[in-house]
Amino acid sequence: MGYSEWFKQHAQKHKNIVEKLRKRNLSKEQIVEYFDFESMKKEEEDFCPLYAKDKKCHNIDSLNCYMCACPNFRFDDDGVKKLEDKTLFSFCAINSKDGKAGVYGVKIHQNCSLCSVPHTKEYVLEHFEYEWTKMMQKCKL
Ligand code: SF4
Repeated sequence: MGYSEWFKQHAQKHKNIVEKLRKRNLSKEQIVEYFDFESMKKEEEDFCPLYAKDKKCHNIDSLNCYMCACPNFRFDDDGVKKLEDKTLFSFCAINSKDGKAGVYGVKIHQNCSLCSVPHTKEYVLEHFEYEWTKMMQKCKL
């Protein structure tokens, strides 16, 4: 699945959950807490394929899933640019020291596996929007 298709599907899943929680009158803070990994794997097992394996995408204690993906991620399914014989498909806009370029044959994709920037509760609350697409509006180039 390409980035755009994943974004479309993920946005809908996120929207459905947030709408459900808003109908229950949960506060912004309570919604973010609901999106904690431990809560989500019990309450929303279809949100992420890793929940069924009880596996975190990032090995941090309080992993928050509200933002998955990251507002700093940039992508173009058709390629951002050519780099010699390779094509860059995604990168980190803030050049996080914990991110890196993953080279897969002739394709280069941003590898965020060691970066926890969008997964802390503090970061999520600071950049909070009910609409996931609004938080991610700069991602698609
Ligand atoms: S490296 Fe970190 S800050 Fe950069 S796009 Fe990935 S998760 Fe976001």
